[in-house]
Amino acid sequence: GSRIGILGGGQLGRMLAIAAARLGMRVHIFAPEEHAPAAEVAAERTRAAYDDAEALAAFARAVDVVTYEFENVPAAALRAIAPHAPVRPGARALEVSQDRLEEKRFLNQIGLRTVPFAAVSSAAELHEALARIGAPAILKTRRFGYDGKGQVRISDPADAEAALAALEGAPAILEAVAPFRRELSVIGARGLDGAVACFDPGENEHRDGILRRTRVPGDIPPAARAEAVLATGRLLNALDYVGVIGVELFETDQGLVVNEFAPRVHNTGHWTIEACVIDQFQQHIRAICGWPIGDGARHSDAEMRNLIGAEADEWREIAADPRAGLHLYGKGAARPGRKMGHVTRLGPRARP
Ligand code: ATP
Ligand code: MG
Ligand code: MG
Repeated sequence: GSRIGILGGGQLGRMLAIAAARLGMRVHIFAPEEHAPAAEVAAERTRAAYDDAEALAAFARAVDVVTYEFENVPAAALRAIAPHAPVRPGARALEVSQDRLEEKRFLNQIGLRTVPFAAVSSAAELHEALARIGAPAILKTRRFGYDGKGQVRISDPADAEAALAALEGAPAILEAVAPFRRELSVIGARGLDGAVACFDPGENEHRDGILRRTRVPGDIPPAARAEAVLATGRLLNALDYVGVIGVELFETDQGLVVNEFAPRVHNTGHWTIEACVIDQFQQHIRAICGWPIGDGARHSDAEMRNLIGAEADEWREIAADPRAGLHLYGKGAARPGRKMGHVTRLGPRARP
């Protein structure tokens, strides 16, 4: 069996490691933090920083392929690995996704719509951008944002200075607020041979910037489902991508716009564990190892709910439901806003 190296020690790495073990593979986790939920289910673990080139090289020599479970892996870390092992998905997909400005430019270049946006690195640029894009708008840091962190809504141009101050001078992007009817996402995959398969789009609900719930198929109209899947296929091919990707979209009266993509397995794809024969984690492992990928078919409708912070304390009640697919990540202390686990419930597959 293959030996798989995973950069990152969180719950996505943990679920990838479990999937790899099922296929007879050995997993080696590389993560700097002391407590890494992924390391608990992996055969090997290196605890070192992402700028430790020697540790990265030794890690890469010990495996057959390297992947990552979070998108803020420094580009330099991939360069340290590249001479020793293939990295999948490749550095280009990672780099584009790390910078919201590059990401939106790239999406537009390949013909995918985004909200109007502008680069902002000074108060003057922000005022200019607000004049063009209008309010309300959202100012986001170009890098390192997740779960809605590093974002400020600007309802009135008078709030511009405060918004800039809140981001502490980090390079930013101003985005128009999408007047969306709903949020959806597509979990797509592309194999080493170029085969593409997508899971059905899910309808997502966020609260305080954090994903609460994904329902599949939800209330997404058939035309929007098709359009979302086609956009994902286009992106996968344009990036010459290998592995699983998560693409987030907004459905508006004017059609779909792409919000962002994550070059990894995705929280909105956890439902696939219960509802598909080959789930997103199996799919990712297959793709990066050059195996044939699954077709993305699901046998049931599904609803996934995140257990955030103290919500995970309800696990006993959830476990008492004989049809609840419960997942706990072994993270220890429940801090507010922290994803501690999730639960998936299936329904009979509704015929479209
Ligand atoms: P993630 O945890 O998904 O990586 P993130 O911190 O990268 O999140 P976004 O996905 O860009 O941030 O934004 C979080 C949420 O905020 C979105 O799912 C959406 O609900 C809302 N949002 C972000 N950008 C816009 C926009 N331009 N118009 C309307 N709503 C938006
Ligand atoms: Mg994001
Ligand atoms: Mg997002």
